Order: sequence, then C-alpha cells, then structure tokens
Amino acid sequence: MSSFKERADAALADPILKIAVERTAGTAEAKRAVAVDAFPDFEAARDRAAAIKDHVVAHLGAYLEQFEANAVAAGACVHWASTADEACRIVIDICKAAGAKSVARSKSMLGEEIGLPHALAEAGIGRVETDLAEHIIQLADERPSHIIWPAMHKTREQVSALFKAKHRSPHEEETIAAMAESARRELRTQMLGADVGISGANFLIADTGAICTVTNEGNAELSLVPPRVHIVTAGIEKIVPSMPHAIHMLRMLARSATGAALTQYTTFYTGPKRAGDRDGPEEMHIVLVDNGRTKMRAEGLTEMLRCIRCGACMNHCVVFRQIGGHAYGGTYPGPMGSVLTPALDGLKQSRDLPNACTLNGKCQEVCPVRIPLPTLLRGWREKSWREGLEPTSMRWGLGLWAWVARRPALYRLGTGMAVRAMHMLGRKGWISTLPLAGGWTRYRDIPRPAAQTFMAQYKKEERRK
Ligand code: SF4
Repeated sequence: MSSFKERADAALADPILKIAVERTAGTAEAKRAVAVDAFPDFEAARDRAAAIKDHVVAHLGAYLEQFEANAVAAGACVHWASTADEACRIVIDICKAAGAKSVARSKSMLGEEIGLPHALAEAGIGRVETDLAEHIIQLADERPSHIIWPAMHKTREQVSALFKAKHRSPHEEETIAAMAESARRELRTQMLGADVGISGANFLIADTGAICTVTNEGNAELSLVPPRVHIVTAGIEKIVPSMPHAIHMLRMLARSATGAALTQYTTFYTGPKRAGDRDGPEEMHIVLVDNGRTKMRAEGLTEMLRCIRCGACMNHCVVFRQIGGHAYGGTYPGPMGSVLTPALDGLKQSRDLPNACTLNGKCQEVCPVRIPLPTLLRGWREKSWREGLEPTSMRWGLGLWAWVARRPALYRLGTGMAVRAMHMLGRKGWISTLPLAGGWTRYRDIPRPAAQTFMAQYKKEERRK
C-alpha cells in the first residue's frame, strides 16, 4: 500500500487533477461566501449549531433511546452496531432475509466508512449507486474523493469518456444535459428494480424517530420509496433533539456545503408504509453505528462529533486543493479527515495526515459548527510524538533544534549564519535547492531572505532611534 507522501507526490504531478479540484472547490468557496453574506448573523447561527451538537453529544445516550422508542413506535426496527463489521453484518442479514439480489444505494459516507460496498459484493448482492457522482465513482471503480462531490477529481471530459465506455446507450452530444440524460437512462431501471434501498441519514430526529436525507438529485427518494425494504445506516452522532433543531442544522449544512439556501430534496422518513399509504417500503430498518465514536469522546475528540459532513473545511484547505481527496487514503479527506482517520484507522497508519497541515486555521473559520480542527490536529501531533511514532531522523532533528533553542546565544548565532547563507544562495531572488529542504524545493522556490534575522534588524533599528 502506498504512503501518504507517495500519493501526494502522484497527485501533485497530475495537472488535470489540479484543474478538476480547483474548479469545484473554487466554485464552492465563492458560493458559500455569497450565501453566508446574505444570512442574517451567520456567526450567531454557528454558535447555535455548535451548542445544539454539544448538548446532544453530552446527552447522547438519552437522545438515542428517545429516538429508538419513537422510531419503533412509528414501525421501524432499530439495530445497534458497535463496529463497522457488525454494521455490515446486520445490513447483509436484512438483505438476505428480504431475498435481495440487488440494492439501490443513496450516497452515504458512513456506508463508505464501514465498507458496505465491499461487504455487499462479498455477499453476492448487486449494488447500484444512485447519486450521480457515486455512479461515476462506481463505473470508474474508484473511491470518493470528497464527501459532498465524490467525483470532484474528474473533469467533465473524463466523465464523458467514462459514460461512453460503460453506458449501454450513451450520449452523443457533448453537453452536460446529454450526459445527465445518459446517466438517467442507465440508472432509472436499475433503481426501480432494486429489492432494497439503502441510505445514510443526515439527521436523526429524537422526538419523532424520523430520519432526514438531503440530495440534489432526488435519487434518495427514488431509491428508498419503491423497494420493499429501506435500510438506514447512521452514525450515532447524527441525532438532534427535534425538528426545529434539524431545520437549523439543515440551513447551516446547505449554505456551508454548496452555498444553497436549502438542498433541493430534503426528505423526512418516519417509519415504513402505513395502512392507507399508496407507496413506501413495507419494512424500515435503522442501523445506529458507533464505530469508534464513543471512544472519540474519551480521547478528547468530542468536538469532532459536531461534524455535519458539509465539506466546507476541505473546500477551503490549501493542502486539499493541491492534492485532492484520494491522497489522504481514508474515507474522509481534508482537515476533518485528518482528524477522523487516525481515530478510525489508528494513529500509527495515519500519522502523516495531521502533519500535512499548514495550521492556517481557514478550516476552523468556515466550519459551521466551529470545530477547532487545527487544535485537534495539533493534539494528534503531540500524541504521535509522545508515542514515539515520528521517524528517528525527525526526532533527532527536533531534539537538536530544541537543544539549540534553549540556548539563546547559540540559537542567535546559528540562525544568523543560516540566514546569511540562504541570502547568498538566493542571488537571483529565489532559492531553488537547499540541503534538507528538498521536499519543499522540489515543487516551489523559496524567496531569498534578508541578510539578517528579524531580531538582528529590530535591534539595529532600536539602536538607530
Ligand atoms: S469539520 Fe466542519 S467544515 Fe468540515 S465537514 Fe465537518 S462540519 Fe463541515
């Protein structure tokens, strides 16, 4: 398996990837800015959103029990899964009991997190991804690269070629509308023929037992209503106390994710079809998944449980916008992924992620639930250091730096010499190679520094006064 650095290197060398990521992330950034400007007191709304999530997480057990009681009263079956494997096993058992040969799946990052596509394939159950971007990902046999736009790493031209190669009756005209029509032709019959519909949940409403999904294409509704069985997989942190809380979170989610006032299709499902209903599934199963979330509270990552998966942090991340989502390696990319992946997959395997951050704080500035992502990333760095996971060269290097930094005279001498040497090296205004800094200079030049350190210049100025 390749390392983060290898994947990042490959991504940086891919000019098409950069164009594709920049197109979507840039548009999302601009649209969010307009939506936030138009929202009366967005900062107060962020405070409220954070407070709602903190309250729920502090009383998680009580709200989950309330949700379960109300969902069961509405006719749904509620299942509890501690781990990803357990969640998949429950879903597969329900599919088998329903005699399902194929399932229609509406986009769910939790499904990706627990490895549901793989589990369905292993069980011999066919799967059709009904979200347009997930459909592209399924055809390309890839993983999502963004939590809102799973195929953002692909250009329109690449998608067109993919549809032409894989669709039974592909588009002829090179227009977005023709491509969408091609996907619609391909997907619709498969969706309507599925035995089971599987979705995630953007929110679980405790006082009604309802689940809420949001999509831009209406694919959730078409995947979940016609089949006989609807299975929901949802993280336990998705709970909100009541409908007004859900509405507040929806307003924050849509604006932060796409800059829209509300996502096109926002649907609340409360139990299966009732007597007299013309349509709807006969069975509804809700699988509540922990998969490390309870442990996150104990590990000082409680604030991360506020996350509503809007993707704003990655759209504004300078690192994500250079390397795209696949380089991160886990289910969740970008700043939130760099906090979550070590919690889900272990710090040893993913210690590069918290280190691949400039700590510029932009992610925290735009997060609708005020998650202090840079602080949480620093927490992982500290843990990695305490557990001795850094390479020996880094430990020695930092140890040496700390030793020198504790001796001011030596530190001044060393930095003064280094700055002078760099000043001489950058005669033409830039330094293109530097010992021990190859990782930086391979991709960009360093501007020539002044001939003296800041402190030396400051003292000189003070003397002159
Ligand atoms: S961490 Fe914040 S900005 Fe990032 S996806 Fe979660 S809620 Fe959105």
